[in-house]
Amino acid sequence: MEVAVVVLNQQSVAIGQQVVAALPDAKLYGFAKRVSDVDQTFDEFGDTVQTLFRQGTAVIGVCASGILIRTIAPLLGNKWQEPPLLAVAEDGSAVVPLLGGVSGANALAHQVGQILQTVPAITTAGEIRFRTSLLSPPAGYELVNPDDGKDFLAALLAGQSVRIIGQTDWLDAAKLPVDDGADLSIVVGEGGEPGPDCLVYRVVGPLNPPILGDFELSVGGVDQIPPSPPSKGGDKIKVPLLKGDLGGSQTSQQTYQLPGRLAIIGTGPGCIDWMTPEVRRVLETSTDWFGYKTYLNLVEPLRTTQNRHESDNREELDRARAALDFAATGKSVVMVSSGDPGIYAMAAAVFEAMETDAKTTWQDLNLQVCPGISAMQGAAALIGAPIGHDFCAISLSDILKPWEVIEQRIAQAAQADFVMAFYNPISSQRRWQLEKAKEKLLEYRDGTTPIVLAENVGRPGQNIRVKHLGDLQSEDANMRTMILVGSSKTRVFEQGGRQWVYTPRRYDR
Ligand code: SAH
Repeated sequence: MEVAVVVLNQQSVAIGQQVVAALPDAKLYGFAKRVSDVDQTFDEFGDTVQTLFRQGTAVIGVCASGILIRTIAPLLGNKWQEPPLLAVAEDGSAVVPLLGGVSGANALAHQVGQILQTVPAITTAGEIRFRTSLLSPPAGYELVNPDDGKDFLAALLAGQSVRIIGQTDWLDAAKLPVDDGADLSIVVGEGGEPGPDCLVYRVVGPLNPPILGDFELSVGGVDQIPPSPPSKGGDKIKVPLLKGDLGGSQTSQQTYQLPGRLAIIGTGPGCIDWMTPEVRRVLETSTDWFGYKTYLNLVEPLRTTQNRHESDNREELDRARAALDFAATGKSVVMVSSGDPGIYAMAAAVFEAMETDAKTTWQDLNLQVCPGISAMQGAAALIGAPIGHDFCAISLSDILKPWEVIEQRIAQAAQADFVMAFYNPISSQRRWQLEKAKEKLLEYRDGTTPIVLAENVGRPGQNIRVKHLGDLQSEDANMRTMILVGSSKTRVFEQGGRQWVYTPRRYDR
């Protein structure tokens, strides 16, 4: 998580520097007129803090909480989207988490409290009573049904007890009212039916659950925080181990070799706003990036210490094997695809390599697929709602599958009246396929069927055009174009000087 520590005057700089030095990914921002010795200066406090907050950056203001509250007030809406907002007293004597309880504000407040040697002013009832935040689990766990969290917590706070299914030191260390006959349940790992009576946590992230439990117990705990930034995986780490409750009984040290990690991520079409926070976090906390050069270039602005491993676009399986082998040496590797990694991209290649080669060195890898917005979704959003009803995606590339299969699929999809998303419509080696696809479509669809040609979606040179099927030409597309072919119901209209395309969900007219 990126953290911005914001100071308004020179007296606060020392406290700000102390916090920034101890937190990974933290930067010190200072009011240009009054401070020096900061990482970045600003002229407008309100604009700066609002922009950081909107971007999802955790903000620690070394100033009165009132200033922060008034600044952020116009932005308050959805509690799930709030990054942590903390106020720290100018002399470092108080740390108050104000917002972002569900995105880790309390854990951050504990960390800052540790740095400044003060006890943070935690006010969230759940954490005080149960000694853990169920809505914001420690790194490595993800709450599958956050929308149910509020009701669930309310029931717990009202006195109900809870069954815990699945093993975790994190919850063992909490002070939950556990009862095997309870109506409320918490499921960690596989299974469980998420709902208002059942919170389900998925295990994610770079560490194995048993190690994670011990490690995270110390992170989430009140007074045992590892002094160094979290490991990026791969290396050996020393962590304090707490057994028993958070009051802290025996503390010891153990050394672990962290297992390697391979995260197969999708960057979205290209612009940072269309990249998920998960993907961003995974990229930032990794050691090595693998992928085709163009895709690595898309995320280059986020690169700090990570090593780039570029490869040729064509050798997908080799690239997958190389990334798996590298991760198996204990590294935290990210395989970068554009759009969604599971749509005509690297995820399938990684699984194919894993199943066919089945190397023993790959068995313990921590594998994760992080989805992204696919080109067809980005393109659709830019022009309205063309895939608003049943649709399918077809790649026109006949490099990995015979053209006959593609042609047959187009014919059948046209007969079924699907909206179609054509990926890989054309390339320098494949010039005739788009023309053939058009001919096939015209056997079933009217020449006036709307076609959306979306080039460089979310990237420089973005260009969206609408045409009729009958007018489609090979020159209309290139390797960076995605084509949406309307169904018989797809509509085009103009309003407010903009052209919109949509496919209605009603099929009765
Ligand atoms: N995994 C990607 C698809 C990769 S296949 C995804 O989910 O989007 C490559 C094809 O996707 C390109 O030939 C083009 O048809 C389409 N594509 C990928 N990114 C695009 C973008 N930003 N704009 C338009 N089309 C794109």
